Amino acid sequence: MNIGYDVIVLGGGPSGSTAGVLLALAGWRVAIVEKAEFPRRKVCGEFISETTWPLLRHLEVAAPLMEIAGPVVRRIGIYSGDAMVTAKLASQTDRIEDGGRAIGREHLDSLLLKRAAEAGAEVWQPFALTSFVETDSGYVCSIRNKRSREERALSSRLIVAAHGSWESGVMPTQDFRRPRHDSDLFGFKAHFFKSTLPQDLMPLLAFPGGYGGMVYSDSGRVSLSCCIRRDRLESCRQQYSHLNAGSAVLAHIESSCMGVLQALSSASVDGAWLSSGPLRTGIHTFGRDGIFTVGNAAAEAHPIVAEGISMAIQSAFLLSEQLNAWRVCGDPDLSNQTFESIRHEYEIAWRDNFSRRIRLAALFAHLFMRPVSSQIATGLLKRFPRLLTEGARWSGKAEPFRRSYQAEAARS
Ligand SMILES: Cc1cc2nc3c(=O)[nH]c(=O)nc-3n(C[C@H](O)[C@H](O)[C@H](O)COP(=O)(O)OP(=O)(O)OC[C@H]3O[C@@H](n4cnc5c(N)ncnc54)[C@H](O)[C@@H]3O)c2cc1C
Repeated sequence: MNIGYDVIVLGGGPSGSTAGVLLALAGWRVAIVEKAEFPRRKVCGEFISETTWPLLRHLEVAAPLMEIAGPVVRRIGIYSGDAMVTAKLASQTDRIEDGGRAIGREHLDSLLLKRAAEAGAEVWQPFALTSFVETDSGYVCSIRNKRSREERALSSRLIVAAHGSWESGVMPTQDFRRPRHDSDLFGFKAHFFKSTLPQDLMPLLAFPGGYGGMVYSDSGRVSLSCCIRRDRLESCRQQYSHLNAGSAVLAHIESSCMGVLQALSSASVDGAWLSSGPLRTGIHTFGRDGIFTVGNAAAEAHPIVAEGISMAIQSAFLLSEQLNAWRVCGDPDLSNQTFESIRHEYEIAWRDNFSRRIRLAALFAHLFMRPVSSQIATGLLKRFPRLLTEGARWSGKAEPFRRSYQAEAARS
């Protein structure tokens, strides 16, 4: 049986659930398809910038998240070699309680998806998309339950692609296959108990062939996440052949960042190391015809700026505002031309908010992954720590979220 919806959202991460809440609240008949069972951990540093907490408040999930989130981060830093430089984190608010903080993805993603269901979205989980067919009247998504093998067909004229960018799949927006390259980046993450990292500090970790970050998350745990080049990962695995991949990467980081060695000297790892990749950074696509992309499916910033969750949630706001404004206008035209004009406005608002973040993240990543440029940059930051504050500001940490122009006009 084919079940019809106004919109099908593919992926129930932060971008998909946010779009699901906002579209369902505006009266669309929404389906969200998520293949993983929640709660689930995910490779991610888990830091959510202060610019996104007002949006979480709007989605009515900020209060329960803040109850369990880690402490407010007030300082940013860099751990590189034996250098440990810190500076104030750029902020646009004087209210300490409104600052950025981290929370485990097992909590964030579960709560957001639950909120989407409360708002009226029908959640298909754990269902994976198995085929995607374009018809004269829209799209048919075949989905299969990962446990029971039950199969369903969902149809809609509109698709929000929120499937992330780490796996290829059957969607035209999911082709992330590239030839293997030494510079491919792999993500790793683990939680630690009993770290001595200062509670208000989020240091950037610069080490040969990669970069990472540490921050207090929920339940007194510190999350350590990082990206490492394929060639460096292979040499780590050879050098520390008695260790699993995550522990080998940590040994490499500890051998090149004294700050990490100190912060974790009496810490114990909580749960298993997670890994993912290769990552596909940069702008991918905004979709075509009735398919629109949000979050990592649209673009992925190098995680060095820890802005991916914010971009996921904010881009879902931008797209939902466009779609809702169009619906409010009562425009019954579902032609590809209409979709093109919606996409055009969405893309303008998207680029206005995120283009600089993508470019700067790439610049910082390449600067800190290479030992020579990293040493020069760290020397500069030692002399002028304020550059750290400014770097964080430029990369979006205190950049006000700008809503889409057309939606603004429709509201006023
Ligand atoms: C090492 C590292 C550290 C990071 N640290 C931070 C940080 O501190 N702060 C920050 O803001 N960002 C960080 N990020 C980035 C952040 O994790 C991502 O940008 C964010 O998860 C993107 O959200 P999303 O909703 O677009 O995609 P995702 O979170 O990837 O969600 C996509 C969802 O779609 C589902 N899905 C995929 N394919 C299918 C399918 N075929 N059928 C059904 N469901 C499907 C997946 O199961 C998943 O749940 C980090 C990333 C890395 C790699």
